[in-house]
Parts: sequence; C-alpha cells; structure tokens
Amino acid sequence: AAKADGKGKVKVFYPAMLEERRTRRILEMDLRHAVQDGCLELNFQPLFDAQTARLKSFEALVRWHHPMQGTIAPDQFIPLAEETGLIVALGDWVLREACAEAAQWPADIGIAVNVSALQVGHGEMLPVLVNTLAATGLDPSRLELEITESSLLALKPETVGFLRSVQELGVRVSIDDFGTGYSSMSSLQNFRFDKIKIDRSFVQAINGDAKSVAIIKSILELSSKIGVTTTAEGVETSAQLDYITANGCTEAQGFLFAKPMSKEAAREFIRQNA
Ligand code: C2E
Ligand code: MG
Ligand code: MG
Ligand code: MG
Repeated sequence: AAKADGKGKVKVFYPAMLEERRTRRILEMDLRHAVQDGCLELNFQPLFDAQTARLKSFEALVRWHHPMQGTIAPDQFIPLAEETGLIVALGDWVLREACAEAAQWPADIGIAVNVSALQVGHGEMLPVLVNTLAATGLDPSRLELEITESSLLALKPETVGFLRSVQELGVRVSIDDFGTGYSSMSSLQNFRFDKIKIDRSFVQAINGDAKSVAIIKSILELSSKIGVTTTAEGVETSAQLDYITANGCTEAQGFLFAKPMSKEAAREFIRQNA
C-alpha cells in the first residue's frame, strides 16, 4: 500500500505498519474504557527488611485484564497511557485503590505506588494525593511514591517543588530502577530521595563478573554515605540476597520471596508473616 503525501513524495505503508497503527488505536480506546469498566487490577509484591527478614511493605503493580487479549503487563500499556494522557486517570485509580487496600492492613505494613513523570508534572497530583489520604484514612507515613529514574531525565524545579510538598505531607519518595537513567548522580544531588531502588539488572549481575559486583557495592556505599535507604529489586537467588545483606542493603524484593499477588493473596500473606 502506498500513499502520496502532497509534495510528490510517496510514503510507503507496509501492511504490518497499518496493522500496528490500528492495533494501537484499538488498544488506546480499550484502555480508555478499562479505567472506567473495572478491567484494571492491582497486584502486590512484598518487600522485606534485608537484615531481619521482616515483612515491611508491598509494592502495588497494575495489571490490565483485556477482554480479548488476556492479561497485559504494565510495560506494554504504561507507555501508551503516558503518550495519550490516560496515565492521569489510571494513576489516580491506582493511588486510590492501593491506599484503600493498605488501610485494611496492620499499621506497620507500608505501601509503595509507582507514579509516572507525567503525573508528577500534572498540577492536580498534590490535591489528589491529599484527598486520597483523607478519603482512605491511610497514614501518610505508610505511603511511598516510586518514580522511575529514567523519567526524571531533567529534574525540573517544579518537579523538585512537587516532590518536596509530597515529603512535607509525610509521604516518602523513592527513585526507582536506579542506575538505568542518564542522570543518576544529578538526580541524587538535586533532590533528597528517601530511598534508592537498585535496578534488578545490577542485582542479577551479582553472580556474574567482578565489574558488576563493584557497581552494586558502590551504589550501596554511596547510599549509606548520603543517608538514603536502599532496596535491591529482582532478588532471585539466595546468593544475591546474601551479598546485598552483607553489604548493608536495607530492603529486598524479588521472586526469591514472592511474585506479585492478588490483594486476597496479599492479605493471606500478611496473616502468615505477622
Ligand atoms: P518496577 O516499578 O521496577 O516494578 C518491578 C517489576 O519487576 C515488576 O514488573 C515486578 O513484577 C518485576 N519483578 C519483581 N521481582 C522480580 C524478580 O525477582 N525477577 C524479575 N525478572 N522481575 C521481578 P511489572 O509488574 O511487570 O511492572 C513493570 C513496570 O511497570 C514497573 O517496574 C513500573 O515501572 C511499571 N508499573 C507497574 N505498575 C504501575 C503503575 O501503577 N503506575 C505506573 N506509572 N507504572 C507502573
Ligand atoms: Mg516500582
Ligand atoms: Mg524498579
Ligand atoms: Mg521497572
């Protein structure tokens, strides 16, 4: 299939590209409805104290149960939600759902919610946060927002201002997937994050070459020097856990402990780990 673009040039669309655009458009329409129609679900993955093995909190991870395509992972639709602005409605839903669920748990169990840079840049996020905490009755000290490092590329003054206001509410702010962005050090310099979540690519390289081990060791040393707590993401083996524990990491999360689970399963998990 070919189409002239008016200037005498011919732009070629292959059937696969047309198909891809159509799929995207349909997916976008479906996602718009998913937020309203209850097709989204939160899963919860536990985080443990790396030194004492005590259950500390859960991270909320969104799932989309598509009527035709089955369950779609967030990596497949969060970017689409960001491009289309749907992330704002989706993010509000995630925040409310996560806080409402955590408010039912024992008071010493926290909840971490992923937020997109687009939500953070959106002026309504702070009042939404205040309202959600009030409506669900969740103590702000139990809530933590995770912001992916690569989305912080430029930590703009208004973003820093927003994050400070969040901390003034008593909510903690973590930097997610630390080490994968282009501005790890300047992010740390420009804002006082409460926690660094070390990307699983570093954690999983622990059994590998000496260079990777040196990198994760340096991140842990740096964090302790600047007084920031750390979570090792994606811990899959006891060798990885032993290494991060020995090197002073604060918390651990990963398939070694548990995969993300339904809210019913999380409640049962809390009962068994109390
Ligand atoms: P993330 O915030 O870094 O979340 C951790 C991801 O690693 C999750 O994938 C989790 O299932 C996976 N994971 C945890 N432990 C292990 C492990 O031991 N091995 C391996 N291979 N993977 C592990 P998931 O749930 O597919 O989420 C992917 C990403 O999507 C998240 O990465 C986060 O950036 C984004 N995301 C998820 N939920 C939301 C949300 O509600 N809002 C926003 N804005 N982003 C979200
Ligand atoms: Mg996260
Ligand atoms: Mg992460
Ligand atoms: Mg990630």
